[in-house]
Amino acid sequence: MVEGLKHTVFEKPIWARVEDSNENFDLYLLNYDKIDIGLLENGLASLEKMTKSIRQSFSRQALEAFKKFFNDIHNPDYTPVLKYRAYFVLSKWVKPASDLSPYKNSPLKHEAEKFWDILFCAPLNKRLDEWDSNGRIVPENFNLWWNEQLKCQQQSVEIWPEDKFKNIQKSRQEQAKKLSREELRKRAARAPRKAVIRYVSSKQRERNEEVSEYAKRRAAGICELCNCAAPFFSKDGTPYLESHHIVWLSKGGEDAIENTVALCPNCHRKMHVLDFKQDRLVLTQKVK
Ligand SMILES: [Zn+2]
Ligand SMILES: [Zn+2]
Repeated sequence: MVEGLKHTVFEKPIWARVEDSNENFDLYLLNYDKIDIGLLENGLASLEKMTKSIRQSFSRQALEAFKKFFNDIHNPDYTPVLKYRAYFVLSKWVKPASDLSPYKNSPLKHEAEKFWDILFCAPLNKRLDEWDSNGRIVPENFNLWWNEQLKCQQQSVEIWPEDKFKNIQKSRQEQAKKLSREELRKRAARAPRKAVIRYVSSKQRERNEEVSEYAKRRAAGICELCNCAAPFFSKDGTPYLESHHIVWLSKGGEDAIENTVALCPNCHRKMHVLDFKQDRLVLTQKVK
């Protein structure tokens, strides 16, 4: 897998497949902007170089077809849907990349796989490994392979439900609290420095901005819980307060001015962490 493609979310497939009456397959490039053409061209250049230096050559026809493909892409008359005779081309160039015996450790195989990754933005997890007597891809294999590619393109990223994400994070937090300071220091020092990226789907409630703005105007720069002035001014010059629902929307509270207060960030956090009944009573009095 080529670095940088791993975390890309593909909502739509990049390629569409159309079969003609002669059982040839055309792949149509649907989402041109999803493919890094610069990377692809570099990949092709490496492949060409390898093909010259290695006796078992990468198909000339395949190289020519890919060059034509790039020309088409750079053509000013280019349309987003680009027809591409994939069946022909794939049958000519896949074999060296997939046939493990003579090419197992060859740089050609490595380059061809890299090129493949960039072209399809999906890992080569299912190889096309059978050909007919003319060295062409067997149509049934193409179907199997294609379905696999489609799956990879559409599900290249696992989307977690928000609960799963929060629960895992929370249980790790609890584990961390149990460790001694010395143990924590050791573990923290050797932890990977790059945060793991997760894609999470969450349910969001749309809130009424007029209700929120009204609560802030009513508060006039003073937190409705601690009665202190807002800690700073926003860039637009207004005192910074946050709106909060006394009875949370997630607990069935209404998005209405009788349930909405304006709080300083500290008090807002406090309400979300502790939500003391006493504090709720104070706020309820304020909105009356
Ligand atoms: Zn406050
Ligand atoms: Zn809140």
